Amino acid sequence: MAAPGLRLGAERLFEMPAVLELLSRSNSTSQAFAEVLRLPKQQLRKLLYPLQEVERFLAPDRRQDLHLRIFDPSPEDIARADKVFTATEGNRIDYVSSAVRIGHAPDLPRPEVCFIGRSNVGKSSLIKALFSLAPEVEVRVSKKPGHTKKMNFFKVGKHFTVVDMPGYGYRAPEDFVDMVETYLKERRNLKRTFLLVDSVVGIQKTDNIAIEMCEEFALPYVIVLTKIDKSSKGHLLKQVLQIQKFVNTKTQGCFPQLFPVSAVTFSGIHLLRCFIASVTGNLD
Ligand code: GDP
Repeated sequence: MAAPGLRLGAERLFEMPAVLELLSRSNSTSQAFAEVLRLPKQQLRKLLYPLQEVERFLAPDRRQDLHLRIFDPSPEDIARADKVFTATEGNRIDYVSSAVRIGHAPDLPRPEVCFIGRSNVGKSSLIKALFSLAPEVEVRVSKKPGHTKKMNFFKVGKHFTVVDMPGYGYRAPEDFVDMVETYLKERRNLKRTFLLVDSVVGIQKTDNIAIEMCEEFALPYVIVLTKIDKSSKGHLLKQVLQIQKFVNTKTQGCFPQLFPVSAVTFSGIHLLRCFIASVTGNLD
C-alpha cells in the first residue's frame, strides 16, 4: 500500500518546472531520469502513468471503475525508486542463483518479490526492463516459449530480492505446481507476487492456476498487464476494464490497482519500480 507521502501523483506533472527545479537540486535523480522528466507532458504521463492515460478515453461515469490512484507516487518518489534500481559500486545488482525447489533456494534475508506468468507473457522482457539501470545483470529473453524452468534469484543491493518464476501453460516444467506452490506457501520473506497477464489476450484459463494459488494462500499479489504497446487504445481499454472487473468482483488478495507496462516503450516501468521499492520498504 502506498505511504501517505506517495499520494501526490500525476497532477504534479502539471507543476513540472517546479518539480524539475527541485529534482535538479536533490541528488535523488539520475541524469537519465532527469532527461525523462523533460519529455513533453503527454508523453511523460504515458510513460510514467499509463493507466491514467487509458482513463482519459473512458466516459466520466465509468472512471470510478478503475482504482487508479491508490498508488500514485510523485515524480520525486519515482526518481528515488529508480536510484534503488541503479547499479553502482555501493548498490550491487546481481543474479544470485537458480533453484528447482524451495530447498535449493538461496537463503536471502531481504524482502522478496516474485514474478509469475504464462510462458511468453513477457516476463523475461519485463524483468530485463526493470533491470535496465543495471546493464550487467543478465536476464535471458527467449523467442521460444517455456524458457524459464527454474526460479531465478536476483539481488538488488541491500534492498530486496527479485525472483523470476518458471512460466506456466504451454511447455511448463512438469513439476511447476509443486515448485511454485511450495515457494509461494513457504517463502517467509515474500512480500508481493506480481502476476503477469498479456494485455492483448486478457486472463486465460491457465492464469487461473496462479490466481487460485495466490488466493488460496492469502498472498498479496498484483496484476501487471504486459505488452500494452501492442494494442489499440480501444482494445487496451476494453481489456483493462474486463480485468479490473474481475479483480473487483472475484479476488480477495489482489491489489485493486492494475499495472500496465510495455517492455518496448518502457511505459509503466518506472511506476512498477516505484511500487516494488514501496512494498519492500525502500521508500519509507
Ligand atoms: P516470457 O516467456 O514470459 O519470459 O516472455 P518473453 O519476455 O521471452 O517475451 C515473449 C515474446 O513477447 C518475445 O518475442 C518478446 O519480444 C515479446 N514481448 C515481451 N514483452 C513485450 C512488450 O512489452 N511489447 C511487445 N510488443 N512485445 C513484447
